Amino acid sequence: MATTILVVEDEPAIAELVAVNLSFAGYKVLRAADTIQAETLIRAEQPDLILLDWMLPGSSGVQFAKKLRADDRTRDIPIIMLTARSEEGDKVEGLESGADDYMTKPFSPKELMARIKAVMRRRAPQLTEETVDICGLSLDPSTHRVSGGEQGLDLGPTEFRLLHFFMTHPERVHSRSQLLDQVWGDHVYVEERTVDVHIRRLRQSLSASGHDRHVETVRGSGYRFTARPSSG
Ligand code: CA
Repeated sequence: MATTILVVEDEPAIAELVAVNLSFAGYKVLRAADTIQAETLIRAEQPDLILLDWMLPGSSGVQFAKKLRADDRTRDIPIIMLTARSEEGDKVEGLESGADDYMTKPFSPKELMARIKAVMRRRAPQLTEETVDICGLSLDPSTHRVSGGEQGLDLGPTEFRLLHFFMTHPERVHSRSQLLDQVWGDHVYVEERTVDVHIRRLRQSLSASGHDRHVETVRGSGYRFTARPSSG
């Protein structure tokens, strides 16, 4: 699944330059010239990150960022504000509106990529390609390999994404609906009990190295991946 980035920018030359660079880096790019187009695109497909121009026709980028932060569905989407202004006051206003980072135009494509990676690592670690290691369980997103100790473990694609999400968000309880949003993605109609089926398969795969006990059921709430399992 390619990471989807929504570019909200009304200057065609900048939008084009950014989109070309993002596509070249392997991202899926959605483009909007104003916040109305952006809202339509977000309704159809939830982006993993938004590059948001400050000065847009109609509603400004700052107003739009505040609106996204106020909505449960979009509050967690990382936002990088793009702006031609460089005054310190604006920067503060941009960050207070809920943006995760702030870039002043003109910027180099290299700087843009570095900022995107940094924000994604901070906000959505399950979307990066970095290997995760917890208690001898190791998951490598770039090769799609999972191993427990010395042993290679065989996981289906959904179980792999589920484990990746768990390992990048350990010790927290995730409800079934949160897992559906994060692992299955938005706008996919799947029943909540589907989560239980994949949890069962995940545990089965992890049991080969005894790591199944790290996936805990939290009664009435959901599931948790823990480095300190209470049983076993
Ligand atoms: Ca603009």
